[in-house]
Amino acid sequence: MTLMHSTEIRSLIDLQAKDKLIADMAGKILSIPDEIETLNALFDEKKNSMNTARETLLKLQVEKKNKELSIAEKDEEIRKHQRELNMIRENKAFKILLSEIERAKKEQDDIETELLVLLEAVDKAAIEDKKLQQEVKKLEEEKNRKIAELEAAKKDLAASLSAVKTERSQFCAKIAPEIMEKYEFIKEQRQGLAIVEIKEDKTGKISCGGCNIGLIPQKAVDLKKPDILVFCDNCQRIIYLKKTVYG
Ligand SMILES: [Zn+2]
Repeated sequence: MTLMHSTEIRSLIDLQAKDKLIADMAGKILSIPDEIETLNALFDEKKNSMNTARETLLKLQVEKKNKELSIAEKDEEIRKHQRELNMIRENKAFKILLSEIERAKKEQDDIETELLVLLEAVDKAAIEDKKLQQEVKKLEEEKNRKIAELEAAKKDLAASLSAVKTERSQFCAKIAPEIMEKYEFIKEQRQGLAIVEIKEDKTGKISCGGCNIGLIPQKAVDLKKPDILVFCDNCQRIIYLKKTVYG
């Protein structure tokens, strides 16, 4: 089929605009759950880093406690040796005890040095922990607000979509059934684009606005008639000339 008698090309153009709107709205509605999922995933990621930071802090605090206990133990050891020192008369044993005290003091020093490093790490970890706790709290509020907005938008879109669909069926009822059938068929075959404006280059050569294939000169003649539907021989889309339709 290359021609069809109809004066309804304007209606078809309007219908296609409605269908595009419907497809866009439906697409938007479909994308909202993904957007929500992305927000939740980002939040979970942040929450995980917060939990990791908290674990690091707790681990360091335990290490700190252990070092403090070790220092206290060394204190005890040193005091014990010093008490023993007072009771010993023999020179050799005295010297051994003194070196034991020296060793314990040295070990205690080393632990104290380690503790200082650890204290710094605890401080840093505590700052990081606090920072992440705050960030997570803020992010959670933001996320919940955005999700509420998205859910509200989804509800609005669903209501609008339903209204546009109703409007569409009322609109379609006024179009001749055979034209509707043709339109729906091409739309289905051509991913929603059933009707296209033709393109004209500087030399006056015309081509289909859907598939870009050049059109035979006879089409240019047909396209000037306001009471027929013209089809592209290549993609079968309905083609039109703006001047004929709206001129
Ligand atoms: Zn075409």
